[in-house]
Amino acid sequence: MKTIPSVYEIAVTDVITVDMDKTLNEAIERMALSNLRTIVIINQEENTFHILTTVMLLNFKIFNIDKSTPLKDLSIPQAKELDKNLNLLTVLNYIDFSDEYMVITDKNKLVGIVSYTDIVNNIDPQFLMEKQTIFSLIHQYKAVTTKKENSTFKVINLMKDYNSDSVVIVDEKQNPIGIFTTKDFIHIIHNDYDLEKPVSNYMNSPVETLSDDTTIAEAINFIKMKHYKRVVVVNKKNQVMGIITQKELLRVVYSKWVEIIKEEGAKISKTNEQLLKATNELKEKVSLDYLTKIYNRNKFEELLDLYISNYKKDQKISFSLLMIDIDNFKLLNDTFGHLFGDNILKEMSKILTSSSRNSDVVARWGGEEFVIILPNTTLKQAVAVAEKLKTKIEKHQFENEHKITCSFGVAHFNKTDNKTELFRRADEALYKAKKSGKNRVEVEQL
Ligand code: GH3
Ligand code: MG
Ligand code: MG
Repeated sequence: MKTIPSVYEIAVTDVITVDMDKTLNEAIERMALSNLRTIVIINQEENTFHILTTVMLLNFKIFNIDKSTPLKDLSIPQAKELDKNLNLLTVLNYIDFSDEYMVITDKNKLVGIVSYTDIVNNIDPQFLMEKQTIFSLIHQYKAVTTKKENSTFKVINLMKDYNSDSVVIVDEKQNPIGIFTTKDFIHIIHNDYDLEKPVSNYMNSPVETLSDDTTIAEAINFIKMKHYKRVVVVNKKNQVMGIITQKELLRVVYSKWVEIIKEEGAKISKTNEQLLKATNELKEKVSLDYLTKIYNRNKFEELLDLYISNYKKDQKISFSLLMIDIDNFKLLNDTFGHLFGDNILKEMSKILTSSSRNSDVVARWGGEEFVIILPNTTLKQAVAVAEKLKTKIEKHQFENEHKITCSFGVAHFNKTDNKTELFRRADEALYKAKKSGKNRVEVEQL
């Protein structure tokens, strides 16, 4: 029989640790340096271990948790501790699938870390069979027993009542002395034997038994070798514990295995889901401006690059660029405060997005400046769009009935263009609008 690996044998021993007194940033730095996906946090006072995973880091990022937060304020759950000498099967009884990672200790000293997945991956049906004894399951397979003096007729009735295809004949001490099966019954009918006679006349005796500390693998082998259909299981005192077939033995093992695998599958898909959700939220965050929730400069440049490369492939899909700057915004801020300024920026973003087509890309370039890509738009059309926006903003009543205006610079992407050149021309046009009195639309100079 092959020996069961200890949990330490499958553990990752390359572990990094950080003290609970340290900050989240220190933990991240150590993780980055070692290139590991988990770090063990040690609470010296309480003598407990906690595991910080990459999934948790993603969540911290999403909830904007400051990196300088002390680890002890993050309520990272305590990890289960497993002694290094425990074998995998014993471990299975200690843990459930909510334990993603566990720490391995040797006399309370950290020596490794193991994941639930690793444990499950190291257990297969053959392994379960070789470890598990019949004792663990025989209580589900009670045998129908009777005394040898009882009439065969009575025994047949017992089989009918219990819907059993065999009856074990026992003595006063519950020790098995014979077995009577449906096969014997057919034999009796065939030969017209007397059913009133005691069952001892027709039973098979002696009966071969298996001890309940036999492993399932050994039991299956035994049944197979002897060509038996079932086997009577006895305890140390040779008392009948139950009767079980080979089919049932296999079924028990495989259903246990399937149960473990199912739990593992459910857990993996749950973790993947969480990870995907966290990643998507993070992506959203990275591309949106924190104040106005429209695209930020980073995302805008990414999309602009895409438009430029599309244009390079097909010159029919050209586009225009608008640069918009709020007039006298500094004065507004200085007079009414930054919070008021923030609200104006939010409102302005709403106006710009609601007045644009779905295909337009509206973004906050920075400060009080906005940019818009207008796909499939000529310079002339772009100017018309800018004029329309200018009028709309001019007429809009902002918070406390404030009136605000913007200046516009317009440019169109052409054959020999690149990103820097396009921006330079749009910026120059905007500068001209400011110089010529603001609240104006100016066009690029080629
Ligand atoms: P001009 O008409 O020439 O554009 O003048 P201006 O005052 O609008 O331009 P200037 O560049 O001098 O000032 C821009 C101001 O925008 C300065 C800065 O404090 C403010 N600002 C930039 N970002 C934010 C923000 O996120 N919130 C608030 N409230 N103000 C901001
Ligand atoms: Mg400005
Ligand atoms: Mg301005």
